[in-house]
Parts: sequence; structure tokens; C-alpha cells
Amino acid sequence: MRVTFPHLGNLWIPAKAFLSSLGHDVITPPPTTKRTLSIGASHTPDGACLPLKVTMGNFIEAVELGADTILMAGGIGPCRLGYYCELQRRALARAGCNAQLIVVEPPRSDFRGFANVVRTIKRRATLGHVLEASRLAWAKFQAVDALDQAANMARWREVSPGDVDAYIGRGLALLDAAETCDDVRHVAEQTLHDVEGCIEVTPRQAVHVGVVGEIYVVMEPAVNMDVCKKLGRLGAQVVQPLTFSHWIESHVVCDIARWIPKPDVLSWSRPYLRHFVGGHGVESVGHSVEMARLGLHGVVHLAPMTCMPEIVAQSILPSVSLAEGIPVMSLAVDEHTADVGFDTRLEAFVDLLLANVHENGKTPPYPAACPVST
Ligand code: SF4
Repeated sequence: MRVTFPHLGNLWIPAKAFLSSLGHDVITPPPTTKRTLSIGASHTPDGACLPLKVTMGNFIEAVELGADTILMAGGIGPCRLGYYCELQRRALARAGCNAQLIVVEPPRSDFRGFANVVRTIKRRATLGHVLEASRLAWAKFQAVDALDQAANMARWREVSPGDVDAYIGRGLALLDAAETCDDVRHVAEQTLHDVEGCIEVTPRQAVHVGVVGEIYVVMEPAVNMDVCKKLGRLGAQVVQPLTFSHWIESHVVCDIARWIPKPDVLSWSRPYLRHFVGGHGVESVGHSVEMARLGLHGVVHLAPMTCMPEIVAQSILPSVSLAEGIPVMSLAVDEHTADVGFDTRLEAFVDLLLANVHENGKTPPYPAACPVST
């Protein structure tokens, strides 16, 4: 099998490690570009949400590179992800792509289906071998999250612009090459140390901004116009509560090991939204409330155009903003979104937050747990 999967931020590093460890020939999907988007959009319905279009583009580009098997996450609840695999199967056939699409459903919805997919992927590997591959992939998931988080915390006070991203880029390349969990730990520690070495030591006033929204647009910089990087360059320290390890813990580990309690976002969202609305709608509301109560200065909410769960969240966030006293800016993203429009709105938002900070002078405690000290 020449296996590929959707391109989503740095997911390719642990996904490649896991599949290669099981002996698969992995075709890493090329990074998402304008070409990816335009290929995807031309094979999908106009009103479909952006993740469907981008992942279609990823698949076709990977098939062009020789992939014959595609792994795609399934979904449940009031979100269109659940039927995307069918649309994608038909669109791939129409595009003349001769590849098998394997859907990995959440274990909670279809445990037998999930187990069958695991059996197909593991091929002749023993259980010990699968556990070893999972351990390495999990170490890489945690490491890429730590590096992303460190970059978000550090960019706003780097001494020479671009240094943080240069160190992070080098660290990610080394993580990709790392063959053992010890190597992964060593690379992560060294990169975090390098990042700390290139930031100002004199503290100055920052604005602390949370980024919430649908997971695909939050995690893929090519789709969200590099929003975290832009906010950092504007002088904002960014907190992004959605991470790969968080997603795997709540959607895979807690579904299999049901005695482990799921991260409780509902208790934060409950005064405003009491039930699951699909996708990450509850998380968007819950994390915004959480960040307001922990003293962050503002929230940027990212939503793919036509995404139902995020439309629900977007309609509730103004109430959260008023009641919790935190400015929230929602930005919708589709294939026509341009950098310049984002730049203008982010600049105006950060200016407003800086003015608030100078008036109130409060500094939030929230980022204290993050890997780069503030
Ligand atoms: S959460 Fe929204 S954007 Fe994501 S797949 Fe579902 S409908 Fe589409």
C-alpha cells in the first residue's frame, strides 16, 4: 500500500512515523497551496465547507505522486464530515483517481469498524509492534504540539524577526527524522531551548489572544492565512487550546478507554450552550469562556464559511463577549479569503486590545503552564 492522508498542519510528522513503522510506503501529501485549493474546489460542490475542498485537493495531489490508499477521518453528529467520505469517493472516481479511500470512524460511533481499519492498517505487524509505532507517533504528536505552542508564545518578543520560526522549522525537520522516543524528546528539548535563547528577556506588555474555532482551520496555517504568526508579529502572545494531542485524547483514547474522563469543555460552555452541536462548536464557546475567566485580552474565532457548528458558536459568542467582558472577533474562511483582508482585521483587533490593556493594565495568568516562560 502506498498510503496518504489529509495535510493538516504538522500532522504529517507523527502520521508518517506511525505508518512507516508499520512498514507502509508513505506518500506525504504536499503542503496545501493555492493549487491544492483550486483542484479541491473544482471537484467538490460550491457550498461545501473548506475542509472538504482542501482535503480533496490533498488527495488528488498525493495520488499524482503515486498514492493508492487514502486514510480519512470519519465523523458523527450534526456536522457534514460524516458523509464527506462518500462525496470524496465519488469525486475521486470522477477525477480518474484510482485510489482506495479508508475511513477511520471514531471508535465511539463504530468500534467494530474502527477495529477493522486498525487490522487493515497493521497488516502483519504484531500487537507489540503496533504499540511501539503508537508510542513513537504519540511522542511526535506531543512534540509538534509543544513546538507550535512555544512558537505562539515566543514570536511576539523575538529579537530578530523570523528566528523563532527558523528554529521551529529546523526542529520539525529533526522530529521527522527522529527514530526513537528518546530522540524525539531530545530534539524537542533542544528546540525549546533554542527558541528561548532568541527572545527578549526584558518583559514588556503583551496582549494575550486565544485562537479558537473549527479544528481544520485552526491547525492548518495555509488555510487560516497563518493567523498565529500574524498575531505574533503584531505583538500578541497566542494561546491555542486545540491541539493534536488534545484531539487524540478526547476522540480516540477516551473513546477506547472509557474509564478515562473526557476533557470537560461543556462545564465552561454550559451557561451559553448546553449540548453538542457537532464539530468544535462547543469547544469554541467553552474555550472562549475559559479564556475570558482566566484573564486573556481577546479571542479570535475561526470558522470555515457554511460550517454549521461554528455558525452556532458564532451566534453565541457575542453574548459571551458581553457577559464575560472579552472582545471576540469571528473570521470566516473560504477559498476566496485573501491575506490582505485578514491583515487589516487582525491589526485593528490587536490595536483595540492594546488600547484596552493600556487602560486596564491587567496581565493574565493563563500562559504560565506553557513551555516557554513569559
Ligand atoms: S465542523 Fe464544519 S467545517 Fe468541519 S467538517 Fe464539519 S461542517 Fe465542515
